Amino acid sequence: MEEGKPAYRRVLLKLSGEALLGSQPYGIDFRKTRAIAAEIKQIHDLGVDVAIMIGGGNIFRGARGVAEGMDRVSADHIGLLATIINGLALQDALEKEGLNTRLISALEIKAVAEPFIRRRVLRHLEKRRVVIFTAGLGSPYFTTDTAAVLRALEIKAEVILKATKVDGVYSSDPMVDPTATKFEDINFLDVLQQELKVMDSTAISLCKDNKLPIIVFNLNVPGNIKKAVTGEKVGTRVS
Ligand code: UDP
Repeated sequence: MEEGKPAYRRVLLKLSGEALLGSQPYGIDFRKTRAIAAEIKQIHDLGVDVAIMIGGGNIFRGARGVAEGMDRVSADHIGLLATIINGLALQDALEKEGLNTRLISALEIKAVAEPFIRRRVLRHLEKRRVVIFTAGLGSPYFTTDTAAVLRALEIKAEVILKATKVDGVYSSDPMVDPTATKFEDINFLDVLQQELKVMDSTAISLCKDNKLPIIVFNLNVPGNIKKAVTGEKVGTRVS
C-alpha cells in the first residue's frame, strides 16, 4: 500500500452523538463539530467518497426515556429527532469547510432533509457530495450503529469507520478496568461470543454475514480518521 494513498474508495463513518459533545455534558460543541468536519475534509480530499451516519446520544437516547417510564417507541422517536439536529450541525460545519453535502433523513422531514432513495444517494456520492444519514433507519428498537451497517451495505462502502472515545476494542472497559488489553485485530464471532463493546449485536451480525470490516478508533486523536482511511495501523480492525 502506498503511503498517504487511500486504502478505500468509499467509506461509511459512524459518528456517535457524543462525538459532538466536546467538553460539554450535553448538546453540541460547535468548535468540536468544526474540528471533526476539518478531518472529514482531509479524507474527502484524498478522493474517498464519504457517507456519515450520525447518532443522537449527546441529546437523547431512547433508553433514557424508558428508564424514566416512557413508552419505548415514543422515546426512540425523540432519539431519532436528536440525530437530525446533529446532522444539521454537522452539515453546517462541513459546508463551512467548503464541502458539498446532502442531509438524508429516514424519517420524512421534507423541508430539512431528503428521504433515503438509494440511487439518488449513489448519485450524490458519484458527484463527490458528502452524504449525512440521519434518523437511523427511521424505526424504533434499532440503533444508529445498525443503521450505519445497513446503509454501508446499500451504498457499497468498503469499510465502517467507527469513531469512538477509546483507542479500539478492549478485553473489558479500559475506563473502568486497568488490566484491560487492546486487540489489534479481532473477528466478528469473538466480538459476539465475548460480548465486546464494539456495536450492538444486530450491527455486528450484519457485518459478519456480509463480510464488511469495521475499524474502531479514537476520534479524539487528531489525524486518526485519515490514518484509518490510508490503511495505517490505528485502533482495532474487526473482520
Ligand atoms: N434510534 C432508533 N432507531 C434507529 C436509530 C436510532 O430508534 O434506527 C433512536 C434510539 O432511541 C437511540 C437514539 O435514536 O437511542 C439515538 O441513537 P444512538 O443511541 O444510536 O446514537 P449514538 O449512541 O450513536 O449517539
